[in-house]
Amino acid sequence: MIVTARRLLDGMGAAPLTDAAVIIRGERIHWVGPASNAPRERGEPRLDLGDVTLLPGLIDMHNHLRINHADRDLAGQMRDPDVAYVLQGVRNLETNLRAGVTTMKLNGDRGFLDVQMREAVKAGLARGPHLFVAGKGIKSTRCTGGVVATAICDGPEAVRQAVRENVAGGADVIKIFASGGILGPQEKVLRPAYGAEEIRAAVEEAHGAGRMIVAHCHGGPAADACIQAGVDILEHGWLLSREQLARMAERKTWLCVTLGVLLHPHGAMSHQLEGPQADQVRRRLDEVQAVMAEAVSRGVRYVLGTDAVHGGLAFELQALGRLGARPADLLRAATSQAAQALGQVRELGVISPGACADLIAVLGDPLVSLTSLDRVRWVMQGGQVQWSATEASLS
Ligand SMILES: [Zn+2]
Repeated sequence: MIVTARRLLDGMGAAPLTDAAVIIRGERIHWVGPASNAPRERGEPRLDLGDVTLLPGLIDMHNHLRINHADRDLAGQMRDPDVAYVLQGVRNLETNLRAGVTTMKLNGDRGFLDVQMREAVKAGLARGPHLFVAGKGIKSTRCTGGVVATAICDGPEAVRQAVRENVAGGADVIKIFASGGILGPQEKVLRPAYGAEEIRAAVEEAHGAGRMIVAHCHGGPAADACIQAGVDILEHGWLLSREQLARMAERKTWLCVTLGVLLHPHGAMSHQLEGPQADQVRRRLDEVQAVMAEAVSRGVRYVLGTDAVHGGLAFELQALGRLGARPADLLRAATSQAAQALGQVRELGVISPGACADLIAVLGDPLVSLTSLDRVRWVMQGGQVQWSATEASLS
């Protein structure tokens, strides 16, 4: 099939292509270039998407199968009966797919249901993004947050055992909770949930098994330990210090930015802005946004995640854009860079020959305005059109 569109962004930051064509064979991209040069085979169907921008399918680097901030009560959701849990998960996957997310990293769910869902999506039993899953999130009995974590253990040996259980259970990624939740006084938020030895043990065990490891971490001594031990991605990082950001930039530690949880109308904080903690929440929001702006200006490598604000990845880019990140950098973060962080270079997050045919079409030009990402009109994943709201027809 040949797909044509007014503009194309390749996800790697090359100059935009106008009047572009992409030839798809099976589930792969075969050719990309100006439509006038496309080596179209006789009888090959052509889909002209018209005045849209084609870009690689987006990658949400921090989400969960079941929990959904729009439904409140996350702890209650984690206790859903299996069937309800899975059906809610299917609904969430579809919401994200329609929003242009064709790959998603799930950062912890219950009972390896995320592993089963990854396989169900691969087998075509459910529609959803390609999934990279963390299985059972690992946290200490000392951890004040982490409602999604279900492997609860203390001490380096128990942590190693929990990593091994996840590897055996089919997890692609290991997730640990190194610090607590975000509310409360700063010293409580920054109190480490795991010590340096436990973090080192988790990293060693994960990397030894060929898995990446990510840490829920807002800052404090746990962030130092994570950066030092070689954790691949720090999730949230809301209260990281300037020194820690500088070290992350130097060591090329990824930061997964998750501003939607705080700022999106369906985020976790939205309903707290009127409650008894309103002032504290507002101050914390300002603090976190200053840290994220600092991370961008210091050149920390970042990716973006919605963390259970399903369908909210565009909001995530827009929120960081308001803090000074450039649209071109944000688009790379949500495509080719996210693929790099997942170890999927040239496979996902790019429109180039040989890559998986995950493409989306949006109205307008996201380099001019990121609100363009709110207007996804067409989604292709693995060479199959998953969703279309265009008038375009095959010819
Ligand atoms: Zn999360």
